[in-house]
Amino acid sequence: MPIINSLAEIGKDAAQWRHALHENPQTMYEETFANNLIKEKLTEWGIPFKDGLGVTGIAATITGQKDTSGKSIGLRADMDALNITEETGLPHASKTPGKMHACGHDGHTATLLAAAKYLNDTKNFNGKVHLIFQPAEEGGRGSHSMMDDGLLDQFDCDYIFGLHNWPYLKKGEIATRTGPLLAGVDEFEIYIKGKGGHAAMPHVTKDPIIVATHLINALQTIVSRNVDPIDTAVLSITNINVGTGAVNIIAEKGKIEGTVRTFSHDLRMMIKDRIEQICEHTAAMFGATIEIDYDINIDPTVNSADGVDMVYDAAGKVVDAKNVDRDCAPCMGGEDFGGFMAVRPGAFILVGQAVDEENSPHNQGLHTPQYDFNDDIIPIGASLFATLVEDYLTE
Ligand SMILES: [Zn+2]
Ligand SMILES: [Zn+2]
Repeated sequence: MPIINSLAEIGKDAAQWRHALHENPQTMYEETFANNLIKEKLTEWGIPFKDGLGVTGIAATITGQKDTSGKSIGLRADMDALNITEETGLPHASKTPGKMHACGHDGHTATLLAAAKYLNDTKNFNGKVHLIFQPAEEGGRGSHSMMDDGLLDQFDCDYIFGLHNWPYLKKGEIATRTGPLLAGVDEFEIYIKGKGGHAAMPHVTKDPIIVATHLINALQTIVSRNVDPIDTAVLSITNINVGTGAVNIIAEKGKIEGTVRTFSHDLRMMIKDRIEQICEHTAAMFGATIEIDYDINIDPTVNSADGVDMVYDAAGKVVDAKNVDRDCAPCMGGEDFGGFMAVRPGAFILVGQAVDEENSPHNQGLHTPQYDFNDDIIPIGASLFATLVEDYLTE
């Protein structure tokens, strides 16, 4: 029997777990509801686990009927919500104002639990499957927190796979690509300190507005003049704050904020270096001082070629093979799964969830208050995970 048939039944229970998770959203490192629900299920099924890897993270291991292959595979789900007030009006809507599962991590957790139930019931593989329930995907570097707490020392994986529901693809479509799929996301704050004074006597001031405007123009040359035109990067200045509100005062200080998106570690570090150089020399040019608070945040998600091959083969057994895109366009959005792809091969997979009714919550964009995860894709995602396991962990 195809795996997806077995998972159709488990999927009905998983939808209930998903609704419970959805009603009780919690954000980075506070995901205690999800943590407890996962532990309750793993305990019920007799799957050994370790709690507290990255505060609220959990890793668990299912050992196959045979364990002589020496092989292991990691399956990862994220479990955190966002600071958004839900507007879906659904029966299982968030019970916490200001918090919402608007990225579908409730669905990812339920999908991995469904795969775990199937894999634990059948154990139709030779080797070990490590389940990775990750906290703080949304900007908290939860992947790094789990690894810092020894995830891969205790639960080492030959390959790691993760998936994301994708409202921009139809249900039954699956997409991924070799190389960069999602961008690295860094953020910076630049603090300018000049010398304030009377607007009529600029010669005795060090005007932070002049510093800021030169700086912004110079920073725009990084992408246009330092990045190889064949490569891809974004540097956006998104906030500028200088001035007291009065028209006759030159301010003392200013602050600029922005974000950098890249698809490779080398490019990301080159841009960081250039920002620092430009700040240092712009400060010198105007006699001001500049301090930078640079936050290296989400790593680029760079899939390995063999990981994508494995996904392509597995996905073709779960959905119609013509609906599997193994070379989709990359996206400048970020995903903390990149932390795992920096240290292990594998792949991140986009699983379509859009339906025919245009205004369905399943068709709304991620991170919007009208969005909802589509329970009908739980059997698809869980079957994909299970097929990856059964295909790789053979004799
Ligand atoms: Zn998100
Ligand atoms: Zn997400």
